[in-house]
Amino acid sequence: MPLKRNRATKIIATVGPASNTPEKLKALFLAGVDVFRLNFSHGTQADHGIVLGHIRRLEAEIGRPIGVIADLQGPKLRVGRFTEGAITFTPGKRLRFDADVATMGDADRVPIPHPDIIEALTIGSTVLCDDGKVRLKVVGKGDGWLDAEVVSGTRLSNNKGFNIPDVVLPLSPLTEKDRADLAFAVEQGVEWIALSFVQRPEDIHEARDLIKGRAAVMLKMEKPAAVEHLEELVELSDAIMVARGDLGVELSLPELPALQKRMITESRRQGRPVIVATQMLESMISAPVPTRAEVSDVATAVYEGADCVMLSAESAAGQYPVEAVSFMDEIIRHVERDPGYRQVLDATQAEWGKTIGDAMTKAAYQTALAVDAAAIVAYTLSGTTGLRAARERPPMPILGITTRADTARRLALSYGVHAVNVGEDIHSFGEMVDRAVQVAVEQQLAAPGDRLAITAGVPFAKPGTTNILRVTTIGDTDPPSKFDTDGATAT
Ligand code: PGA
Ligand code: MN
Repeated sequence: MPLKRNRATKIIATVGPASNTPEKLKALFLAGVDVFRLNFSHGTQADHGIVLGHIRRLEAEIGRPIGVIADLQGPKLRVGRFTEGAITFTPGKRLRFDADVATMGDADRVPIPHPDIIEALTIGSTVLCDDGKVRLKVVGKGDGWLDAEVVSGTRLSNNKGFNIPDVVLPLSPLTEKDRADLAFAVEQGVEWIALSFVQRPEDIHEARDLIKGRAAVMLKMEKPAAVEHLEELVELSDAIMVARGDLGVELSLPELPALQKRMITESRRQGRPVIVATQMLESMISAPVPTRAEVSDVATAVYEGADCVMLSAESAAGQYPVEAVSFMDEIIRHVERDPGYRQVLDATQAEWGKTIGDAMTKAAYQTALAVDAAAIVAYTLSGTTGLRAARERPPMPILGITTRADTARRLALSYGVHAVNVGEDIHSFGEMVDRAVQVAVEQQLAAPGDRLAITAGVPFAKPGTTNILRVTTIGDTDPPSKFDTDGATAT
């Protein structure tokens, strides 16, 4: 049974206790989820392995590729424990931070299991605890300790997270736990690895050295240091997540909307899928309908041309996961039907790339517009041609035809791409057209009389060769092509 989404912007849902059974995963998929996120900040490897198995079986049952992201926890910093479980204070209070975690903290002392962080902080540095609810300023420093004055906030309890926004952490974004989780996820065949708290280009190289091409790399933008290297980091990654949760703690909340726009613009410019994440429908954790402001927030991400919007706790631990997905689906479809949406997208088109592949994709896009094609067909082995087509943000669907399961799954999070893994390679020009027509009709993306703009590469089955553009009208018999005689060597 073909299943197509009547929208171009995709939906990611985080899996958790509210969604981790085969039945719930299926309900979420049918409601509109394109990609599932496994959050390695929670649960065990075994738990995630079981969910991945459910998702792969669901994919086989439904017959549509489903993307999976393994989101690594990263070096999330946490305070230690207190004798009383929590301490209270008022602004102006001085607290001593040290790394002696063997001794529980008290009203005057906060243990933190990170001697290197104590070392890296300097007088004047800001420390934010518990998602920014407690703000402190470092006022003194000695051998292995810091004194910090409470600027705002009144309470701190065991193991709360803390952030130090204005210091580049002397840390790899991959902890021991992350390395183990990464190895596990790659071994299990997950196609996206998301890296938390990336700060520098080297962080991505480090992850790629471990991944060895077996999965694509998603960079979570959640550190001010990463924002400073935005252009370079986008270039080094395969996708970008605007991780507004931690970013909103590390920077001030009013800075978020402009940053979101900048990150989306830069990602689109470079043709990388971009995801807007965190608190999109937050109130739906415990309510069956979102707030007006949340509806507007999802709509804004869509108007800005994001590839994906994401649900976190709403689908992982909330009471209304399916309703949350349905709302997202409906909001997206309403925005995409607005004539103003097209105008905004067209006005924010990225510049032309200079490669042959870019030129072919641009030509396909313009031809598809001119002949009012029902779909753009992109033969794509590695996914690059699919990504290029998505970069154009065309008003018609992109049928991404591939012979690789991982490519089809990766493209599940790209704007407008309906990926199909056809399993076997094509060998001739005629076959290229026939197969495109057959799949487009099967998938209900086109019907007899419709036109398709098809891009492919010759020789077939070799990545990085997109150099053909063909327009066909479904139902017309194509005259035998002279390319058919010399097939793979035609240019
Ligand atoms: P998290 O990342 O949910 O893993 O913290 C997303 C964010 O910080 O927004
Ligand atoms: Mn985060």
